[in-house]
Amino acid sequence: MKLYLYNTLTKQKEEFKPLEGNEVRIYTCGPTVYNYAHIGNFRAYIFMDNLRRVLKKNGYTIKHVMNITDVGHLESDADEGEDKMEKAARKEKKNPYEIAKFYTEAFMQDIQKLHIDIPEIIAKATDHIPEMEQYVETLLKNGYAYETSTAIYFDVSKLDKYPILSNRKLDEQIAGARVEVDQEKKNPYDFAVWIKAPENHIMKWESPWGLSYPGWHLECSAMGRKYLGDQFDIHTGGVDHIPTHHENEIAQSKGATGKIPAKRWMHVEFLQVDGGKMSKSLGNTYTLAQLQEKGIEPLAYKLFCYTAHYRTKLNFTFAGALSAQKALNRLRESYIKHKQGEEVIEEETIQNYQKRFMEAVNDDLNMPLAMGVVWEVARNEKKSKQYAKLLLAFDEILALDLKNAGNYLQEQKEVSFPEEIQKLIEERKIARQNKNWELSDQLRKEIEEKGYTIKDTKEGMTVEKL
Ligand code: AMP
Ligand code: ZN
Repeated sequence: MKLYLYNTLTKQKEEFKPLEGNEVRIYTCGPTVYNYAHIGNFRAYIFMDNLRRVLKKNGYTIKHVMNITDVGHLESDADEGEDKMEKAARKEKKNPYEIAKFYTEAFMQDIQKLHIDIPEIIAKATDHIPEMEQYVETLLKNGYAYETSTAIYFDVSKLDKYPILSNRKLDEQIAGARVEVDQEKKNPYDFAVWIKAPENHIMKWESPWGLSYPGWHLECSAMGRKYLGDQFDIHTGGVDHIPTHHENEIAQSKGATGKIPAKRWMHVEFLQVDGGKMSKSLGNTYTLAQLQEKGIEPLAYKLFCYTAHYRTKLNFTFAGALSAQKALNRLRESYIKHKQGEEVIEEETIQNYQKRFMEAVNDDLNMPLAMGVVWEVARNEKKSKQYAKLLLAFDEILALDLKNAGNYLQEQKEVSFPEEIQKLIEERKIARQNKNWELSDQLRKEIEEKGYTIKDTKEGMTVEKL
């Protein structure tokens, strides 16, 4: 079956074929680790994971790099303002390296909660300073960059065409960026690739141009080239990357290698809140933990994301997320019922569902359409183990951890039990893990005396109120 993916560069869906052999090389712009990632950010990584899984299901192997930006991302994408890391460090009265470590760990925990596969290579910007310095040297040598008293700039006038990814006109493109900062810029839209560090900038490195730090755009170009070569298959990010960050990555690659670094550029649209922009200043950015406090699991948020195609805006509301939570539980219950079902389904019917599901995901990751097929199977009147197996096959792409459906439902039930019972259940789980059968039996008795029944199954223990 053919796989079609939209390419922002050509503005059309194209049939996907890897540049070389069976391996797909992907670069994803990762988080800037100065704060907790919010659910908007996670829409971007859920999309990234869907893409990986669809490629795998189509038989490809993957070499995927995601960067961690721990230096050089200024407050505005167009090189203005302070380094986000340094600002956060000052605010939290910590060292920027501590800030980076803390929020990188928090990010990794969150993507695990979402059952997002971690890309093969996680590249931290501060681990790649020599490669970045070398990249700047190449740009200078090739005549695409010049030095001023505050930075090394990319000379945009040297390119045959700029911008090429967005439909913007050149004078709309970051007009004025850093102009107030540096009067020595040749063209107003030239952007900094390497920034000379002010006295108080903590993250800085010795370089031929004095103590400096890399620009955010340069980081991705240098790390992408190091791991994936001069040209790779797919570059992903959010739509906010189109006009500046990715445009400038392309400019840098053309200056350094003469090539556009990726053949396909894929961008996920924004998650909005209550129909408007999601921003820290409006106080409407939510973390996964804040959703969990309101009884919305990370996986329910993921299911919520599947209600819209990745190239359309998605409006977040708590009501919408809560109904995704209910839907997720219904899907889990349906899976369990099918697993216990005895009906025999014709192989042709199964194959037909499989085909429709794959056609949907292979059509530029059409998750809402794919979910339509999932629900048809889940809600089918005939309860069959074949349908349970089919749902698990779909879950290789959905990644909703359906195989553990029973455990999630049980945990939710337990939350509604009185605290005293929850405590006893926890103690019994630990006793069983430690193979302390005597204690386990004693706790069973205690729980039963308080009006609950216990069943120990292959999947774990289930507790019900009598
Ligand atoms: P950042 O950590 O700010 O560099 O952003 C990480 C990723 O999240 C980038 O791919 C952004 O494009 C993406 N992103 C930021 N805000 C949103 C949003 N509201 N909806 C979807 N993606 C977003
Ligand atoms: Zn990037």
